[in-house]
Amino acid sequence: MSTAPFQPNDSFRDTISTVDAEGKRVWLYPKKPSGRLYEARKWVSYGLLALLFAGPWLRIKGLPVLMLNLPERKFIIFGQIFWPQDFFILLIAALAFTLFIYLFTIVYGRVFCGWVCPQTIFMEMVFRRIEYWIEGDSPQQKALDRRELDWDKLWRKTAKHTLFLLISFLIANTFLAYIIGTDALIKIVTDPLTAHLGGLSSMVLFTGVFYAVFARFREQVCTIACPYGRLQGVLLDKDSLVVAYDYQRGEPREKLRKNQDRTAGDCIDCHQCVQVCPTGIDIRNGAQQLECTNCTACIDACNNIMELVNLPPNLIRHASENDIARGTKFRLTGRMKALSGALGVLVIALALLLTSRSNVAATVLRTPGQRYQKTEQGAIRNLYNISVINKTNQPYPISLRVLEPAGGTLTVVGAPETGLRLPAQGLTESVFFVELPRTALHETNQPLRIGIYSGNELIAETSTKFLGPVMR
Ligand code: SF4
Ligand code: SF4
Repeated sequence: MSTAPFQPNDSFRDTISTVDAEGKRVWLYPKKPSGRLYEARKWVSYGLLALLFAGPWLRIKGLPVLMLNLPERKFIIFGQIFWPQDFFILLIAALAFTLFIYLFTIVYGRVFCGWVCPQTIFMEMVFRRIEYWIEGDSPQQKALDRRELDWDKLWRKTAKHTLFLLISFLIANTFLAYIIGTDALIKIVTDPLTAHLGGLSSMVLFTGVFYAVFARFREQVCTIACPYGRLQGVLLDKDSLVVAYDYQRGEPREKLRKNQDRTAGDCIDCHQCVQVCPTGIDIRNGAQQLECTNCTACIDACNNIMELVNLPPNLIRHASENDIARGTKFRLTGRMKALSGALGVLVIALALLLTSRSNVAATVLRTPGQRYQKTEQGAIRNLYNISVINKTNQPYPISLRVLEPAGGTLTVVGAPETGLRLPAQGLTESVFFVELPRTALHETNQPLRIGIYSGNELIAETSTKFLGPVMR
């Protein structure tokens, strides 16, 4: 074991491993990983993929588990419909989620990137595995790419890219289903092509984007494009758990030689950890490299080598920088405690907002351009527009009543005998008069409360102003 402080050569930070000195892309051929963690990642990925593809088809009380319908500004999360009127709930939920990711990253590093992120799962567990299956492991892939085009190369490349395109099409359809819902998606697929040119173009566009990402852009999503990846520099600190090389134990590294007494560190400089890395970095250059997605492939690769050479495992492992440098164990820092407190407050606020949220929301506005009218009996009358949103999957028959001030009467213009009907997940708009006797008028711009009833049950209420003559 080394006692001298490890002096990493920081020159690796001046470049990224996927771009050469002339600025050209360096194509990576990571070796196929194997080991305990890779096996575990496979099963986690299969579970998450099953959830992702099943998601749009799963229903809770007839509603999708998740649908983010941006064009209609309607969001369904765990069978609950959220409209723009629920902006505060969505804002608090988004803040709580961001803070959770922030806190989780500070404590556990980029576990999300390596184990949960759809980009990594599709790239490493779907597209890369198809590549290994058709083209072989890293050396065979390199040889195939260097070779002139022949029949063997032609069929392998054609088969691979055809499968890539088909899977991209499947992902694009799933992605679209999360936005427009499965019913609309089925219509696009089954109706004549010309009936849904917009939807069809989105499908083709998304397929092209996913194919380009997984066939060409690949690890650069993580190393260049992803904003979460770029935030690691400010999120992680020396107490965060990351995939780290134990330089105290590994240095000075030295190749293994037969029949030689070993005085160097445990790293035998075999480069297996570098060869399996899907972002092309050398974890021995130091923990917390921005390109590292914490995929743990290098842990497996090194553990396999350690087993072969009869040395203890976990030369590369999950550890914090302080853990490696000083042998300290994980502890809750002030930053972690402060963030946990803030997250707790947001979660409580979210729970309160969700439990007090009504299934129906109404907006009432005085009809623009209309002043008040006097009736023959001397009462005052105002005209209003109402729009009522149903956030549930149940249709409601509704009626409107004046809650305050007492004595007010409400007449819906042109309402059918059966009253208004609020469609499931829909909206109804109408126009109504409110008439107040002079005795109920106390000010020129008087507060007015309207109740929305389903039968005799008050299901929502809303407030507006009632305009009357100037009071003396
Ligand atoms: S350094 Fe290790 S954990 Fe990080 S991306 Fe490369 S293989 Fe994965
Ligand atoms: S796999 Fe382990 S032993 Fe081999 S170079 Fe990497 S850290 Fe050193």
